[in-house]
Amino acid sequence: MTTAGAAPRTVLVLNSGSSSVKFQLVEPDSGVSVASGIVERIGEDTSSAKLKIGDQDLHRAGAIADHEAALRTVFELFEEAGAHLDSLGLVAVGHRVVHGGRALFRPTRVDDALIARLTELAPLAPLHNPPAVLGIEVACRILPDIPQIAVFDTAFFHDLPAASATYAIDRDIADQWQIRRYGFHGTSHRYISEQAAQFLGVPLENLNQIVLHLGNGASASAIVGGRPVDTSMGLTPMEGLVMGTRSGDVDPGIVFYLARAAHMSVEDIESMLNRRSGVLGLGGEIDFRELHRQITDGSEQARLAYDVYIHRLRKYIGAYLAVLGSTDVITFTAGVGENDAAVRRDALTGLAPLGIELDEHLNDSPARGARLISADKSPITVLVIPTNEELAIARACSEALDDAGEERAWGERGAAK
Ligand code: ADP
Repeated sequence: MTTAGAAPRTVLVLNSGSSSVKFQLVEPDSGVSVASGIVERIGEDTSSAKLKIGDQDLHRAGAIADHEAALRTVFELFEEAGAHLDSLGLVAVGHRVVHGGRALFRPTRVDDALIARLTELAPLAPLHNPPAVLGIEVACRILPDIPQIAVFDTAFFHDLPAASATYAIDRDIADQWQIRRYGFHGTSHRYISEQAAQFLGVPLENLNQIVLHLGNGASASAIVGGRPVDTSMGLTPMEGLVMGTRSGDVDPGIVFYLARAAHMSVEDIESMLNRRSGVLGLGGEIDFRELHRQITDGSEQARLAYDVYIHRLRKYIGAYLAVLGSTDVITFTAGVGENDAAVRRDALTGLAPLGIELDEHLNDSPARGARLISADKSPITVLVIPTNEELAIARACSEALDDAGEERAWGERGAAK
């Protein structure tokens, strides 16, 4: 094994889903993304693995049986690109874990005890945590010498004030079953709120912020001085805003009604609310670009889907203006938030009496990167800032390693053996 030499240290960030693994190799210190890719349709005959590294795009098609084969394929692609694993400066593998429950919130070194605790949490996040555990187990097997660190999507919201974290339901049942509002996309909300402060050149402690993370999943947060005081997702990522395929807020009575009247099972209802609701359920499309096309073509259902989406978003913005009392900055991020000027305009239009005035020209600009989109005279500043959850996870991992005094890259580690 060769030494890592002067290679900057890197973290491999893994986001393991039930049939996909997204990955990115990140230099936490410089913020550079060295490589990224995805393995999709794991377990099917039509699996595909893609790696982008430098100016090379590598692709492999054909059956990839399971998550272990998926990760091995990724490393084969790295080798094929001439990027040998022990020369990449790898210091950690960072795993995105959706649900940390009540107890897990700091970036946590993976060991058997952590895997056992994550497995216990599966009922709280049945769609998300089991594949993450699978990804962790596989990575531990393939890279046994590299520290594996779990970073939780719920972490940022761990200390939500009780008034916003608590559901008004039977206290004993809530306690017994760990029912509270956990919040998700925390890595993004934290990253964006810090970036907004940096962009404005104002200390984070001095800012009251609303962050709108609008991707396929969507969530809003209200943040005072860097600490979240409310967020739209709850026990699960289903609560809150209308999303690509999730309903967001619904009357819980719908669940009982469907169970009794339509004889739908819990699994059917869950699947309907998670996968066949939201913009897809109403408009037949998940992608906002297509939704806009259909609206232009006169589709009434696409129009309704969009209107419901915007209505809910405006309700949350209004609610968080009231929660905060005074708001300094509202920031849009993620796929829709970063790219869809119409959504940003329709979410904020007519809110000048509440202190929000967009600059239409800036909002419509195809610019990328962190940017201002409010008018100079707007009392509340409005920003667009691209999220970078992988970088945030990589940095959380490298900080955890530094705290533990483990900074040597894997190559050095191996050479030192
Ligand atoms: P995820 O939650 O899967 O990480 P993203 O943050 O990548 O989602 O957002 C994906 C969504 O962003 C797409 O489904 C699409 O609706 C939206 N999107 C991406 N690019 C554009 C664009 N140029 N204009 C409008 N919407 C876009």
